[in-house]
Amino acid sequence: MSNIYQIAIDGPSGSGKSTLAKGVSQALGIMYLDTGAMYRTCGLSAIKRGIETKDEVAVAAMLEDMSLQVVFEDGTQHMILDGEDVTGLIRTPEVSRAASNISSLPVVRTKMVDYQRQIAAGQSFVIDGRDIASKVLPDCKYKFFLTASSEARAERRLAELNAKGDFSQNYEEVLKDIIWRDKQDSERAASPLIKVDDAIEIDTSSIGIEETRDLLLSYIKE
Ligand code: C5P
Repeated sequence: MSNIYQIAIDGPSGSGKSTLAKGVSQALGIMYLDTGAMYRTCGLSAIKRGIETKDEVAVAAMLEDMSLQVVFEDGTQHMILDGEDVTGLIRTPEVSRAASNISSLPVVRTKMVDYQRQIAAGQSFVIDGRDIASKVLPDCKYKFFLTASSEARAERRLAELNAKGDFSQNYEEVLKDIIWRDKQDSERAASPLIKVDDAIEIDTSSIGIEETRDLLLSYIKE
């Protein structure tokens, strides 16, 4: 029997996906792929080039011209855009909005999903995103769907930004952004955020990250 297994963690922004995915991958000694970072890098590319993130023709041309690579160094994911390591530049509110816009374009999704499948092929991986269980790896062994109230997610996002020295937004602004992104990610035609029937749903509003990680690991070890 193959001992390769893949774990999909989907959910809205700020539901704790990335912290959790990191913790689970470390506990199991397997790789972690953050797919949001790939859409963020596409968004950053459009900002740098002055391209409107909803203009499908211009974005398609950009995709042909740009080089986006996911590189793992000591197990940590780095995003390389046109030869530059942009990992530290893709977590700003501006890039979040650009990523949400650009990720609604089918031309972007097709390219990123192909690349995600290529990266994950034949290896054990924890992968987080919005469409991992529904589209990227529908046959993967473990599927989790994280939720949390908008308020709890906004509080976490604000703490993350502040911890990085980013005080550009207050709580109300972060909450507004979260609600706007939720709406856009859930209502888009191409691979909207949905919970597949066989995913295990976990509400992280009031349970801590370590507790959630242990809960998730308990399902995997069963
Ligand atoms: O997860 P994160 O907040 O970094 O994702 C940034 C944006 O990328 C999301 O708002 C969403 O629009 C998009 N995304 C997506 N599909 C994924 C991962 C992220 O559409 N698998």
